[in-house]
Amino acid sequence: MATREILQIGNPILRQRSHKITRFDDALSRLVEDMFDSMHEANGIGLAAPQIGISKRLIVVEMPDDKDHPHPGERWVMCNPEIVRASRETVVGQEGCLSVVGYVGMVERAEKVTIAAEDLRGREFRVKAEDYLARAFQHEIDHLNGVLYVEIAEEGSVITLEELEKQAQEEGNEIGAEEPTMLT
Ligand SMILES: [Zn+2]
Repeated sequence: MATREILQIGNPILRQRSHKITRFDDALSRLVEDMFDSMHEANGIGLAAPQIGISKRLIVVEMPDDKDHPHPGERWVMCNPEIVRASRETVVGQEGCLSVVGYVGMVERAEKVTIAAEDLRGREFRVKAEDYLARAFQHEIDHLNGVLYVEIAEEGSVITLEELEKQAQEEGNEIGAEEPTMLT
């Protein structure tokens, strides 16, 4: 197991457009293992390679293994992912980011997307996703284009986790009762 440091907002690598993957070799597979290890250690559900300082078009997503959750335990590795279709219908939902620790915000995303990507051997595949999973893919692909969610979040919606907790208490809700905050 090898975890790597997750870069934080302000690091210029997070603002770069990442490079296309052209070599599908053992080093790439090892990088993916490190990404899963780093993501698990940070309790995230998704991670993009630039978040650990590697400017390559590579993302991983792993849904919580929880039966109340859509796609429990599903694990995705995508090289060179592209959104080839996005629904006109959008949904606004809460997001957090492992590169913006301590904050959450509300982001409008396409409700459904189709992603075209390559696997670790360079074979193409397509995935249709909706809701939570579609949101995770869109958040990660933004990372590959140097975009952090705080830049596209609804105005004034980015708050600290303490503020979120306070709001939830005032409303008499438990945090994440309906949908857990995604950290990606
Ligand atoms: Zn993120």
